[in-house]
Amino acid sequence: MSKEGKVKTATKIEAEEAKKLDPKELVKTFSGEAAEGEVEAQGYLCTTYCPWCGSYLRAICSSEVYRRYTCAACGGLFRM
Ligand SMILES: [Zn+2]
Repeated sequence: MSKEGKVKTATKIEAEEAKKLDPKELVKTFSGEAAEGEVEAQGYLCTTYCPWCGSYLRAICSSEVYRRYTCAACGGLFRM
């Protein structure tokens, strides 16, 4: 696996849907390095671009489920 991880396409979560979400379900993204143990425990490292602000982000992704994320830069919600 490359250092950057797999690039995934993020899809915006619109405001109407965001209101119904449980904040506990949201996964944070980050712009720096991830703690390795944390990545292995929860999935694999992937990268994406925020569909709201275009920021380059890293996240811990899962191949089995869609997760909902918050952008580390603008706080926008998206899924991937
Ligand atoms: Zn953003």
